[in-house]
Amino acid sequence: MAIKVEEKQLTLLERLYVLEVVRGIALTTGHFFRNMAVHIARLFGLAKDKKGSTTFQYPEERRPLAPRLRTLHRLTRREDGAPRCVACMMCETVCPAHCISIVAGEHPNPLIEKYPTRFDIDLGLCVFCGYCVEACPEDAIRMDTGVLEFTSFSREGMVYDLNKLLARSETPKPNEESKVKTA
Ligand code: SF4
Ligand code: SF4
Repeated sequence: MAIKVEEKQLTLLERLYVLEVVRGIALTTGHFFRNMAVHIARLFGLAKDKKGSTTFQYPEERRPLAPRLRTLHRLTRREDGAPRCVACMMCETVCPAHCISIVAGEHPNPLIEKYPTRFDIDLGLCVFCGYCVEACPEDAIRMDTGVLEFTSFSREGMVYDLNKLLARSETPKPNEESKVKTA
């Protein structure tokens, strides 16, 4: 069903934009002086109940992460430590960025048909859509590590292989999930 959005008619003053620009500058300047006053007051032990700037002083101060935020991928393990992945290629097929590359091998256990002999994710291409997690029938891939910082000086360094993805196979502790972590 199409939703009709009423377009707001601008007044002549609004269409001239000058007044709106001045109002914007006044608003920003007001916030600037208010924050400065609060910070100076807090410096002298006053206005403890007031909060100044809402900016996080990154990187010293990290903002809490939403529990459902999609962060760096990890592959989960079975109880015996082997990857849960059965190399079904669902994630590779659904990935819109074509950044997952899997090579399947025959599993020695006849109950498990295949396992990944190679599993690479090129994080330089990944768009963090989470489709791979949604498509996985085995809960073998997750994006709940809480890791948001994984830079590299080379393109090759952005490719995470099976070992790197399995290195974080344990479920992060709840209190760890809400903090930004580095790779
Ligand atoms: S998050 Fe999206 S883009 Fe990234 S590997 Fe998964 S499916 Fe591909
Ligand atoms: S969808 Fe899951 S089980 Fe299938 S290849 Fe990807 S991670 Fe492995």
